[in-house]
Amino acid sequence: MRILVTNDDGIDSPGILALVGAMRTIGDVVVVAPDRQQSAVGHALTVASPLRATPFHRDGTFFGYAINGTPADCVKLGISTLLDVQPDLVVSGINHGSNTSVNAIYSGTVSAATEGTLMGVPSMAVSLASFDHAAPMDLAADVALEVARRLPTMQLPQGTLLNVNVPACSREAFRGIKLTRQGNSVWKDSYERRRDPQGREYYWLSGEFVTLERLDDADDLAVADGYAAITPIHYELTNFPVLDRLKTMF
Ligand code: MN
Repeated sequence: MRILVTNDDGIDSPGILALVGAMRTIGDVVVVAPDRQQSAVGHALTVASPLRATPFHRDGTFFGYAINGTPADCVKLGISTLLDVQPDLVVSGINHGSNTSVNAIYSGTVSAATEGTLMGVPSMAVSLASFDHAAPMDLAADVALEVARRLPTMQLPQGTLLNVNVPACSREAFRGIKLTRQGNSVWKDSYERRRDPQGREYYWLSGEFVTLERLDDADDLAVADGYAAITPIHYELTNFPVLDRLKTMF
């Protein structure tokens, strides 16, 4: 199996290192990842500046291509240009911070996998529910491996990917894998008003994650209960019931 691995935390993040270690046990891995932190860039593409692919080394060994672009750029450039054959899988992560519920729309990690499935490659995103960069990645890597092994036989339709979220808990507290739906939670945003050393105001996004509905099988609630949540998601955005209702008005 040929596996394209990417992320949105940057090619030097601990999460992608753990993911590459896991994926190398089942295939040939090519890493194409952003050269810097690109969290919450969504599905942005670079269209007005040159993209460069710079060989990136870890401990003196070639690790992958560092791209001065977004996660979606990495997958597009990787599949169309850098790789000589189409990969069998695209795996994005392991992200620091969960990408459950509404987070999936902001996530560069998820968007990289969306780009993979748009290009016809079975794809998955993996996130760990912790922003602590020292959080252990081994459980999330094991879950990623278990899901990636099965992904080629799942026959997901083009445009559908797996969004995998793993709790930041001990192996003893881990309750296993649960198939879930996207939860209904939002960020109640607030912006902290601060002053820079020159006295000028600036703003810093902060916020509180609020559960709007306790849906059965919601991904965020499953992760909070100690399960790894797997949600099949797709980019079809049409609201069909509303479409049908509006059709009666015209
Ligand atoms: Mn991230």
